[in-house]
Amino acid sequence: PVVTRIAPSPTGTMHIGTARTALFNWLFARAQGGRFLLRVEDTDRARSTPEATEAIYGGLRWLGLDWDGDAVSQFNNVPRHADVAAQMLAAGTAYKCFATQEEVAAFREAARAEGRSTLYHSPWRDTPADQHPDAPFVVRLKAPRDGETVIDDAVQGKVTFQNEQLDDMVLLRSDGTPTYMLAVVVDDHDMGITHVIRGDDHLNNAARQAQIFDAMGWPQPVWAHIPLIHGADGKKLSKRHGATGVEEYAAMGFPAEAMRNYLARLGWSHGDDEFFTDAQALEWFDLEGIGKAPARLDLKKLENISGQHLTQMEDAAILEAACDFAARDGRAAPNRDALLPAIPFVKEASKTLGQILDRAHFALTVRPIEPEPKAAKALDPVSRGILFELTPHLQTATWSRDALEGAVGYVAEARGLGLGKLAAPLRAALAGRTATPSVFDMMLVLGQAETLARIADVAA
Ligand code: GLU
Repeated sequence: PVVTRIAPSPTGTMHIGTARTALFNWLFARAQGGRFLLRVEDTDRARSTPEATEAIYGGLRWLGLDWDGDAVSQFNNVPRHADVAAQMLAAGTAYKCFATQEEVAAFREAARAEGRSTLYHSPWRDTPADQHPDAPFVVRLKAPRDGETVIDDAVQGKVTFQNEQLDDMVLLRSDGTPTYMLAVVVDDHDMGITHVIRGDDHLNNAARQAQIFDAMGWPQPVWAHIPLIHGADGKKLSKRHGATGVEEYAAMGFPAEAMRNYLARLGWSHGDDEFFTDAQALEWFDLEGIGKAPARLDLKKLENISGQHLTQMEDAAILEAACDFAARDGRAAPNRDALLPAIPFVKEASKTLGQILDRAHFALTVRPIEPEPKAAKALDPVSRGILFELTPHLQTATWSRDALEGAVGYVAEARGLGLGKLAAPLRAALAGRTATPSVFDMMLVLGQAETLARIADVAA
C-alpha cells in the first residue's frame, strides 16, 4: 500500500509550495487508498518554533489535508538516527572521521585557491580502528567512489550522478546529532514511506539519500521531484511576487476547495480541465500528470476558479467557510441564521468569501440601518415619498419575485419613473449602501416583515 508524507521544517509560515507538495502527497495517497503522514522536521532546535509547527497544522487543516495518525516529530527520533549510524559503523558502510571542522575547512579553502576539486576525501576512511585516536569524530558514509547513482524519478526521468562527484557525507555530527540526510532516510524507512513526492530542489539530496538507503540495504522509495512554483516573471516564487504563505491565501478569502483545485493544477494537469471537484481530483490524480516545467502562480486564474467553486458549493459549506474567513479577517462573527438564506443570492457574483460577506451585508446588518453617505443621498424627500407610496403595495404582495417586481413596477409606472429611480432608495433603505444585490433578491431574503420595517424607518 502507498504511504506518502509531507515533511516540513517548522521555521516560519507554511509556504504555498509546501502546501502544494502536501496536496500532491495527500491526493496520491488518498487516490491509491494509501496513507498520508506528517513529519515535522524539527531537528534544527535553534530555528524550529512551536508557532511554526502550529502554522503547519493550521495550514494543512485549513486546506483539508488530513494526515493519518499522529504527527511525527523528527527530533524525537534522534536516538534512533544515532542507532542507525552505529549499525552502519558496525557494518563498515560508515566510518569515524577524526578530521576537525577546521581541517576540512582549511582543505577546502586551499583546494579552492589552487583551483582543485573541493571534494573532501577523509584520510580516516581506510584507517583501521586500532589506529583511532581518543578524540571527537563525525560519522561519514563510506560512499561508493566510482560508478553512478541513478535516481529513477517519476517526474524527472532517470537522473544520473557520478559517484566521484559525491563526497562521503557526514551522517552524525561530533556531538552525536544526526544530519538532515541521515534523519530523512531513517525516518522515511521507519515510517514505511513508499513514495517521496517533493520539490525538485531536493533532487540532489535524493542521490545522497539513495546512497544511505543502499548502504542500509533498505529499498528506495519511488522518487517524484516536482518543479518549484514560479512567479509570473518565471522566477522562483518569493515574497517579492506577493503572498507566499498559505494563511495569506486563506486571508484573501479563497475557499479551501478552490485552493485545492488551483494548487493541484499548479504543476499537474488532466487534459484541459481547469475546474474540478475533490472527487474528480482524487479520481484523476497520478504522477504522470505532473509537468516537468515550473508552473507560474496566477492570481487571476485562482480567482476565476474560486468564483466557480463558490457558484457550485453547497450553501452550508459556504456558510462554514465564510464564518472561518470572518474570524481570520478579524471581522465580527456573522449571524449564521441571517447569512445562510442570503448565500444563494450572492454566491454567483462572488470570487472570494470576503465578497460573499460584503454582498450579504444587507442580510447581516440590523436596524436601525445607518446609511453610508452616498446611500443617504438617495433618501431625499421625494424618494422617501415614493417609498411611502410603495408600502401598501408591499403589504399586500405575496412574497414572490413576480409579485415584488409587479409592486415596484406599478409604482414606478404610476410615477412615470424608471425602475432605477426606485431601486436607489430601496437599496439605501434595505442595505444602507449603493452597491447591493438586486432589490428583489434582498426583499426575498429579508422577508416581508423586515423589508417593511426597514422601509418604514426611512419612508415619509
Ligand atoms: N524538511 C524539508 C523541507 O522542508 C523536506 C524534506 C523532504 O521532503 O524530504 O524542505
